[in-house]
Amino acid sequence: MAAPWEGVLRDEPAIQEAASVAVDAALLEGVLMRTEREPNASDVVNYAPFTLLPSAVPSALFEQAYAVQQDFNLLVDAISQNKEFLERTLASTIKVDDFTAQLFRIHMQVLEEGLSQSVFLGINRSDYMFDCGVDGMPALKQIEINTIAASFGGLTSRTAAVHGRVLKMLGKSEEASRLLPNNPSKGLALGIAKAWELYGSQSAVVMFLVEEVQRNIFDQRCIENELWNRNIRVIRKRFRDVFEKGSLDDAKRLYIDGQEVAVVYYREGYVPKNYDRQNWEARLLLERSRAVKCPDIATQLAGTKKVQQELSRPGTLERLLPGRTEAIARIRATFAGLYSLDMGEEGDKIAAAAIADPDRFVLKPQREGGGNNLYGEELRQVLEKIRDSPERTSYILMDKIKPQPAMNYLLRAHSPLQVSECISELGIFGVYVRQDKEMVMNKAAGHLLRTKAIEHADGGVAAGVAVLDSPYLV
Ligand code: ADP
Ligand code: MG
Repeated sequence: MAAPWEGVLRDEPAIQEAASVAVDAALLEGVLMRTEREPNASDVVNYAPFTLLPSAVPSALFEQAYAVQQDFNLLVDAISQNKEFLERTLASTIKVDDFTAQLFRIHMQVLEEGLSQSVFLGINRSDYMFDCGVDGMPALKQIEINTIAASFGGLTSRTAAVHGRVLKMLGKSEEASRLLPNNPSKGLALGIAKAWELYGSQSAVVMFLVEEVQRNIFDQRCIENELWNRNIRVIRKRFRDVFEKGSLDDAKRLYIDGQEVAVVYYREGYVPKNYDRQNWEARLLLERSRAVKCPDIATQLAGTKKVQQELSRPGTLERLLPGRTEAIARIRATFAGLYSLDMGEEGDKIAAAAIADPDRFVLKPQREGGGNNLYGEELRQVLEKIRDSPERTSYILMDKIKPQPAMNYLLRAHSPLQVSECISELGIFGVYVRQDKEMVMNKAAGHLLRTKAIEHADGGVAAGVAVLDSPYLV
């Protein structure tokens, strides 16, 4: 999997110069983030962290990841409509995990009341690593699928241009020309625009539901701009604004500040710290409304780690996607080993195996956003403590993926330039729109490559561990 610029990596003067060109190119292209010190102001901004050089990605695995994305879109959508499956799958989890339980309560409440939403918009990102098997051949293995607030589709639309500039400067023009075009922000915006159009009110707006702390605003602005370019109005609101100013009319149309909202695009609401009592009330209001939620609460639940684990059980995919034999085979080929820790013999056995050999596994709670998983000695200690308690059912176990590392430079504001041993994670963005029972859009919308130094077991770009990258197909 070696890229054709291994030789350059040790040419220190060339690297120094390339790094300063790279940073300016990133600023020029808009690969930006607000600073930690002033996360809600754009007076002073930084470049978002990125690799100096693109990373080699096996082209067959890259194509495989794109080829399975429409299948994953169908699967997520099917799960979200399967009340019985979600209920059964999450039954043990919601007994011990308050956050999932609260989401589930809203889901049930909305179903009991009757769905007023008839247009559904899914934006997800399926993430993979390239597992290096005993034969040395890399295999595509899914890490997880993100069904809410999947980020970096905007900024990553601009990283290929930066890497192209760097390669040219290093005398690799031919390689630069082979970097792939990639524009998830446009693909995601097309999905939002389609949902807006089907909602059917020219004067209604798209509402981005955003966090209190908005460091990653430029990533979102890329998508916003695509919508404004199509003459669709975008407003940015927090849960707090919805609580204070949101309301439903008799037909459950959603209004905020007197404006009707056609689509709610969540970039918030995926971790417990996003919610206080008022924010939960705001979430319920949004879910009860006619507006298209991206995602609706059922689709958010479809993205939990517990659901992911249940999907790997023999027969589950067949029940969720009846008759779709080929899609099922493509999906299943990407699964790593996933194990339930529910109380009982199966859970006892796998818990014992993980305690005996923790480096084979990752222990995952029902959380998003990076930094929550447990590895190695810590995994062993936690699992030993909870092995006989129902608390263990709030976690799942997963086989640890072991990619082949490669050398690269990770560029971060205020950090020294040094070469690191790195591994990458490939994400494919999926977007789909359904009106009642009919799929009217189902697409792969682009990719995201994130790379981190091997000493970090966990964590994404927002968590300060991984950085943006571009795939160089080999
Ligand atoms: P989150 O929802 O917090 O993003 P993930 O399942 O994506 O949770 O895990 C976070 C990070 O941990 C991933 O980006 C990856 O670097 C690492 N990771 C997760 N699962 C595995 C695994 N099975 N093998 C190796 N690394 C993993
Ligand atoms: Mg993740």
